[in-house]
Amino acid sequence: MSEPTIYELSSAGRTGVRFPEADVPLSALPSAFLRPDLPMPELSEVDVVRHFTHLSSMNYCIDGGLYPLGSCTMKYNPKVNEETARMPGFALTHPLQPEETVQGNLALMYDLQEHLKEIAGFAAVTLEPAAGAQGEFVGVMIILAYHRSRNDTKRTKILIPDSAHGTNPATSAMSGYEVVPVPSDARGNVDVVKLREVCDDAVAGLMLTNPNTLGLFDENVLEVIKIVHEAGGLVYGDGANLNALLGIVRPGDLGFDIMHFNLHKTFSTPHGGGGPGSGPVGVAPHLVDFLPTPLVAIIENSTDEMPPLYGFVKPPKTIGRVKSFFGQFGMLVRAYTYIRMHGPEGLRKVSEYAVLNANYLLSKLEKTYTLPYKRTCMHEFVVEGCWVDVPDVHALDIAKRLMDYKFHPPTNYFPLIVHEALMIEPTETESKQSLDAFADALLAIAKEAHTEPQLLKDAPHNTPVGRLDEIKAAKELVLCCWQPDTDQ
Ligand SMILES: *Cc1c(COP(=O)(O)O)cnc(C)c1O
Repeated sequence: MSEPTIYELSSAGRTGVRFPEADVPLSALPSAFLRPDLPMPELSEVDVVRHFTHLSSMNYCIDGGLYPLGSCTMKYNPKVNEETARMPGFALTHPLQPEETVQGNLALMYDLQEHLKEIAGFAAVTLEPAAGAQGEFVGVMIILAYHRSRNDTKRTKILIPDSAHGTNPATSAMSGYEVVPVPSDARGNVDVVKLREVCDDAVAGLMLTNPNTLGLFDENVLEVIKIVHEAGGLVYGDGANLNALLGIVRPGDLGFDIMHFNLHKTFSTPHGGGGPGSGPVGVAPHLVDFLPTPLVAIIENSTDEMPPLYGFVKPPKTIGRVKSFFGQFGMLVRAYTYIRMHGPEGLRKVSEYAVLNANYLLSKLEKTYTLPYKRTCMHEFVVEGCWVDVPDVHALDIAKRLMDYKFHPPTNYFPLIVHEALMIEPTETESKQSLDAFADALLAIAKEAHTEPQLLKDAPHNTPVGRLDEIKAAKELVLCCWQPDTDQ
């Protein structure tokens, strides 16, 4: 790290701020607040602007290049979403404002509930959960409440296919259920023979991602749902992969009882870096009464002179409130904008192009990278990041080397059922040129792996920091590399 820090750039007496003339009597700062061990850097405005602009450009971002993180759907976020989310009527409302003063916000929330119901085929939708994982929690709490409401207390297990995202077993376990894994079959579907074996009257439900995390549409999905329903369980749909289904098939029509949406994946609200997500949950008619409170409803129908009056309602058997106020409102505005800008035809195209792009990329790579399940993929696919003739090269090395080619690495080592997994999701927003460039990089890396493997083992070479201990880097964050000189 040779870059000078903002402290080293500091020059005594230089300043970048000009305070307005004081209109109150001046008084000295209390000396207890003036810490000699905490010198503030003294810089001009341009120094500060350059410093932070430089820092911002060290981060890889979707506005800077392709971001093929499988399972995460890092698609481009259209800037019109930001314009609407920043409209003062949305951005400046306070969550404690009386309902009659926020009718526009409530109308947007109501319409978004209606659109999500229509898109996924459910009877009602809550916008409250703050992320997909919290949506799962809501779904499992609803499963619990549903069985309890029928005095069916013997159900203690939730079935989770082995291709599931880690949040599914985590949610089930933290909700007090025993997690029972269900294996996949040779085509990457849920193994229905094994499923039948574990389905008994202790099963509360199954959590199923479809398309699953292998990027494959479960060919037995109707049978899987039927088997669980016949055992008296409910089927939870993990909707993180809805990007492949928009306008083509509706999970509610397939028989799913509950599903979460990830607005930050399917409907292009920004995510990553811990930013706010949004995980609305849709339910079939028999579960509407259990939804979290409050829901947005029309309290008084419109008349010739008056628009409808919107307000909050509490479902009669609600599991309660799961988030302060009304969910991540700014994300709701962005998702609503995205849905309205595309319309039904546009949303279908989103999925068609997402699937086309993934299959195009797969067709360019499958001769070089092993594809464990040889099927047409949906919006993403998983290959093995390793070769038998170069046993020292691992998926991690390929991921790191991609950074030298100026691409964000794909998801790696997930799903767990693929050896040295590289999980690639190009999304619909990439052009043929960018897909070709990405494929070329992966093909070049495959060649290097065989001719010059050390290049991969030492990668990345061109990034501000090299290969980190990723666990340590996440758990022991060092946010400022400058340390005060204690001798002074
Ligand atoms: C992203 C994801 C989740 C979790 O969603 P968050 O919004 O990140 O909490 C769950 N399941 C799958 C398959 C996912 O891809």
